[in-house]
Amino acid sequence: MSARRDELAASLDAVRRRIAVACTGAGRGEDDVALVVVTKFFPASDVRLLAELGVTDVGENRHQEAEAKAAECADLGLRWHFIGGLQSNKAAAVARYADVVESLDRAKLVGPLSRGAQARPGGEQVDVLLQVSLDPPGADHRAGADPADLVELGRRVDDAEGLRLRGLMAVAPLGEDPDDAFTRLGGMREAFLLEHPGATELSAGMSGDLEAAIAHGATHVRVGSAVLGPRPRVQ
Ligand SMILES: *Cc1c(COP(=O)(O)O)cnc(C)c1O
Repeated sequence: MSARRDELAASLDAVRRRIAVACTGAGRGEDDVALVVVTKFFPASDVRLLAELGVTDVGENRHQEAEAKAAECADLGLRWHFIGGLQSNKAAAVARYADVVESLDRAKLVGPLSRGAQARPGGEQVDVLLQVSLDPPGADHRAGADPADLVELGRRVDDAEGLRLRGLMAVAPLGEDPDDAFTRLGGMREAFLLEHPGATELSAGMSGDLEAAIAHGATHVRVGSAVLGPRPRVQ
């Protein structure tokens, strides 16, 4: 257990240094970019060690696993980010434990998320990021809203009880230079901010591309394998 703690402490340190260096390189303050550690596929015991090491925000992408882990770690005071594909029949349940939902990508999810948020035991609002697709037009959209739909989707979140619109989230497409993808994302964000000036957060960047995301304005990065090691199972 303490070997695992040492391992996590070292990798966490390395990731924090990468973030600081990238911030400096981008002319931003070293503390400008928050770290969300993606703990999917790793046990609650790791989440506990991460909390001891100062991690405040964790990310999960599958409802059942996330719900169980959030319950098991309820005493730690962590912020839980849901970053995975949302099914409309699970969305209400997700909003009951997730403090941040980063993957809202279609209007159909707003109603159930809002209902779940209003049923939260503590009554706090749920922060929402809209996931936007960075795939080229015409590609099979794997996940994420069409950029053209963002403003209207944001309006629906604004109008929904229990939800607070905070910004955008994206994943760089496989096989494209992340720098190009995040350049496009920066443009989408500028346009979005004209209509939703309070939605200033930008969740972008993972283990392999956090530097590029920070150069293009990410306010938090979602890092899994660089902190926890290779995931135990293939997704
Ligand atoms: C798994 C996942 C991450 C973390 O990926 P790593 O490459 O392990 O850092 C980030 N964002 C999303 C949406 C994910 O599903």
